[in-house]
Amino acid sequence: MSLNGLNFYSYLSKIRILKTYSSKIMLVAFLGTHVPLITLLLFFVISTVQDMQTALKILGIALVATLAGTAATLLALHKLLAPVMLTSKSLNRYLSEKEIPNLPTVFHDEAGSLMADTVTTVRKLDELIHYMTNYDGLSGLPNRDLFLERLSNSLHELSMREEILSFPVLSLEATHLKQIRSNFGVHMGDLYLRSLVQKLETMLGPETVLARTGDGEFSFFPLPSSSQILETDSEVWAAKIQNSTSSPLHVVDQQISSEIRIGISVFPYDGKSSDQLLWKSETALNQTKLSGNSKIQTYSSEWKERMKEKYLLEKDLRLAISKNQLFIQYQPRIEVQTGKKISAEALLRWNHPEYGVISPTIFIPIAEESGIIGEMGEWVLSKSMEDLGNWKKRGLPPIRISVNLSAKQLEDKNITKKVLDILEKNNLSVEDLELEITESSLITNIQSALEILGELHSWGISLALDDFGTGYSSLSYLSKIPLKTLKVDQSFVRKILTDPNSLAISKTIVALGKSLGLRITAEGVETEVQMRKIKDLGCDEAQGYFLSKPILLEELEKFVQT
Ligand code: C2E
Ligand code: CA
Ligand code: CA
Repeated sequence: MSLNGLNFYSYLSKIRILKTYSSKIMLVAFLGTHVPLITLLLFFVISTVQDMQTALKILGIALVATLAGTAATLLALHKLLAPVMLTSKSLNRYLSEKEIPNLPTVFHDEAGSLMADTVTTVRKLDELIHYMTNYDGLSGLPNRDLFLERLSNSLHELSMREEILSFPVLSLEATHLKQIRSNFGVHMGDLYLRSLVQKLETMLGPETVLARTGDGEFSFFPLPSSSQILETDSEVWAAKIQNSTSSPLHVVDQQISSEIRIGISVFPYDGKSSDQLLWKSETALNQTKLSGNSKIQTYSSEWKERMKEKYLLEKDLRLAISKNQLFIQYQPRIEVQTGKKISAEALLRWNHPEYGVISPTIFIPIAEESGIIGEMGEWVLSKSMEDLGNWKKRGLPPIRISVNLSAKQLEDKNITKKVLDILEKNNLSVEDLELEITESSLITNIQSALEILGELHSWGISLALDDFGTGYSSLSYLSKIPLKTLKVDQSFVRKILTDPNSLAISKTIVALGKSLGLRITAEGVETEVQMRKIKDLGCDEAQGYFLSKPILLEELEKFVQT
């Protein structure tokens, strides 16, 4: 490497203690000022002063003075080096954190232009890199990555707003691109794509984000802020674009056309993330190819209404707790052999302002999907334990409450602590509570669920396995869960007298439970004969309409006292 002019610098760089640039300059400056000064001083003192004491005095004063002067010079030099240091630091920061240098551009000497030029050069380079990684070279349009990023940004903006806004994402494909390339050549194929892009850009205007998302595929969506395309209009909009882009385009001296197909997905019904929306508009696009006849297709049109309802419900559900729309009904259980009223199951209800009381079988899955279940489940625990705390305080007959735990709550590492805190807050002990889990809730993450269940068990909290016999029953894990109770599912109890299979299954469940030392609860007992049958089979507890439907706390109080 040629060192043109860097020889001295390179020589100094070899000296270990002079690692930094400023230390090299400092050393040179120090030696440069001190060596001549001290030489001069020594020479002067030796040749003129005879008496030793005066000589030492002069030397001392002179040394202090030169040291002070040099220190000031070195400090000033150090400050003068700041532009170089700052530039080096900000270049480093750009390399490690992609932060564009923010250096002053007002100075006009070499150091000033070093800073100013660094800023301009890095900014230009950064733009170029951004362009190369985010834009498609042929069409000049954003590529797939940038499209997804812009879509995400728009979705994020939307999530800040109060009102529910929907908008479509469209994927358009020129399906005859291959034929065009083989008939007219690759270059003409490229030119055709460019003309198609021009046409699309003019049609869509600046309020729409357009990108090249595949070889002959382009995707676009109207910026939600423009709100010009309502979701209901999206098919009409697509038809207009499809029609206009299908007509022949003038390319050099040819008229070239391709079949155009469009797939549509709609936020929020078809998805709430950019990936989902693009994936679904492309799926819809592929569906048009499979079905053949229609060139425009909306993803899952037939599900749209259902999804819409679900989405609206989810919005309301988020407010249900704060608006006091949730309440609990308790369904009592009795001990089969003695008839004693010993426990009750807490069942969540939602009193929707418009639709009335909605069943948990409808809103619990929505709460699980949307993540509200955590908060909701904690509300059930808190409220039911508060009820039970008051119950005990008033000296009513002792009763144990069962609370249903959702699969999602079994992923919460803090659930044990939460449960214990709630018990303590209401002066209750672990015997007052039982938690019901279902087999299916164990499937997703069995290892972590087992850990949490083990922890709950070690604190003395009883666990019941709900709906037993309906899930993915695996006997091997049954022995691993620290259970106290098995609940025979209602579907077997209901048919226990009419269907031999249900009877056989019920018998097996009881035998299995007993062999594992578990208590057996039969749920969904609706008639007296069913009651007698489950007693014969050896069930320990019963729950069902025959005894009582789920009732409010005040009614439970009366029920227990009769
Ligand atoms: P589950 O835990 O199996 O609750 C028993 C369901 O059967 C309740 O329905 C109850 O009203 C109903 N039932 C009780 N006895 C009879 C009977 O004799 N005949 C008939 N036909 N039905 C009977 P509900 O209250 O609609 O609850 C449905 C499901 O919702 C529950 O099933 C449970 O899985 C879930 N759920 C309810 N509350 C909560 C809760 O607080 N948290 C969680 N995670 N899930 C809950
Ligand atoms: Ca249950
Ligand atoms: Ca059940």
